Parts: sequence; C-alpha cells; structure tokens
Amino acid sequence: MRTLVIDNPASRMHRVPPGHPEHEGRYLAARDALTALTGPVWHEARPAETASVERFHTADYIERIRDACDTAAADEWVSLDLDTKVCRDTWRAALATAGASIDAVDRIMAGEADAAFCLARPPGHHAEPDRAMGFCLLNSIAIAALHALEVHGLARVAIVDIDVHHGNGSQCLAELDTRVMFASLHQSPLYPGTGSADETGLNGNVVNVPLMAGTQGPAWRDAFTRQVRPALAAFRPEFIFVSAGFDAHERDPAGGLALLEADFAWAASQLAGLAAEFASSRLVSVLEGGYDCPALGRSAAAFVQALVEA
Ligand SMILES: [Zn+2]
Repeated sequence: MRTLVIDNPASRMHRVPPGHPEHEGRYLAARDALTALTGPVWHEARPAETASVERFHTADYIERIRDACDTAAADEWVSLDLDTKVCRDTWRAALATAGASIDAVDRIMAGEADAAFCLARPPGHHAEPDRAMGFCLLNSIAIAALHALEVHGLARVAIVDIDVHHGNGSQCLAELDTRVMFASLHQSPLYPGTGSADETGLNGNVVNVPLMAGTQGPAWRDAFTRQVRPALAAFRPEFIFVSAGFDAHERDPAGGLALLEADFAWAASQLAGLAAEFASSRLVSVLEGGYDCPALGRSAAAFVQALVEA
C-alpha cells in the first residue's frame, strides 16, 4: 500500500514528571525505528482546528484542558487525574496529534495514499468526550473518525483497537453513533476495567474481545480471525482506523499479553486486507501505548513495513 507517516514533532513538547511511563523517549524510539524504513512518505502534522476537536469533545472540556496547560508554571505539571498530567506546552502537542490523524484522513481521501501511520503522542483512546484519563487528552482516533463521516461524507467507519488496554473513550463514540463500529482486543482484567464481551453498543456495533494475561500471538490471531474479522466484514466500513498501541508486546511493562513484532506485522497485513476488501484500501493507524521503548520501536516498524508490503 502507498503508505504515509504523519509525524508530530510537537510530541516532544508534552513533558511529564520524571519516572512517568508516557515520556518523549517513546516518540523518539518509534521515530528512529520508522526513519530506517524506506517505503513510507513522511509529512509533518498540522494542529487540529477547535471545530474538529469539538466533534467528539465538549467545549467545556476543551476549555478545561487548555486552561490547565495555561496555568502550569515552567517545568511544573497540572494533574488531571492520578496519571494524566499536562505541562504548559501539552495543549500544542495534543492539538497537533489530533491534527495528524485528520491530515491522514484528508490525504487518503484525496487519493494521495492508501494507508497512514500517525507518529504522535500523547495517546488518545482512553479520553472520553468530557474526561481525560490514562495519559490521554484528546481522542485523536474518534476525532478522525468523525472527520471522515462529517467532512468527507462517509456512511460507516470502523475503529479497531489493538492496544493492550481497552479503548473506553473510543467505545463511547460507537455507543452514541451507529455509523461507527468499535472492535477491541485487550487484556482483562486490566486498566481501565471496561471492555467486557457483553458491552455490545448499538445493534452490535461494539465488539470486545477480552484476553487473559499470558495470551500469546497464535491465540491473539485466532481471536482476531474468529471475532473481529467477521464483525468488520458484516459492518462493511468505508474507512478503517486502528488504535495502534504496542503495549501488548511480551516485553511491555504495562500489560501481560505476549505478542511479538511478527504479530503486529500480521495484524497490519490483516487490517490492510480488510481495508482493501471493503474500504477502498483506506486505513489510518494512530500510535497509542507501548512503554518498552526498544520493543515499541521494533513493533511500530514491523507494523508500518507490513502496511507498505500489503
Ligand atoms: Zn495501552
């Protein structure tokens, strides 16, 4: 597939306290690994417009996050919850991360490419319309999904979440909008505690696949093939979005699944195949978690290389 990397250098402006797992080294590790690939074409992210962000988040919430950043003193942080903190430049990083996903949609809809990978932080899939949580501020994938529906006039889009944690924020969108399907494979029990199989959304547009700690690649692939693939085929999305967290890797300290780089490459080729079948090959992936930097870099590179080769 003709594949883009939409890079957000402003990711580095979102600084976190020492010892926090969601730090700029994650971005740098993924960037260095992706730079070594020869296939993708790179573009730099532009900040999202407020109107785009407001398709998913409430105006009051946006104001609260922006105010929290504005009130942070230099080299200080403001806590939004136990583990979600902002510094004075976080808003710029978050806005450009959302902008990366929107730019990816626009470029693909313009026929410039088939697939895109958004290399950006902070992550987004835990962020709900009016609540920051789990390191997430703006739900870039939900914002991009709504951009595809509202601006480009698509009828149905799917979000597939392969992060080790359940994407509760993105599920909120499907629970409000039958044009969106949300499918997630994640470890359970694990933060944030949502994502049981009996959460099925509106007319079955939510498909949750909770997996036990210790689950390895073959069982993960089997779950994808048996549960996610047929649900996507039945929904027939016109655009597929992927919350590409790599914290299901066996080396990751944040979860207990045991995927390897080859499993992420397999997931990318499956998703590319589904996009080719139903969605005119339109596929946008957004970096979510991944907290062992070397494993994150290798996994992201394997994922993007598989998109290039699909
Ligand atoms: Zn995660």
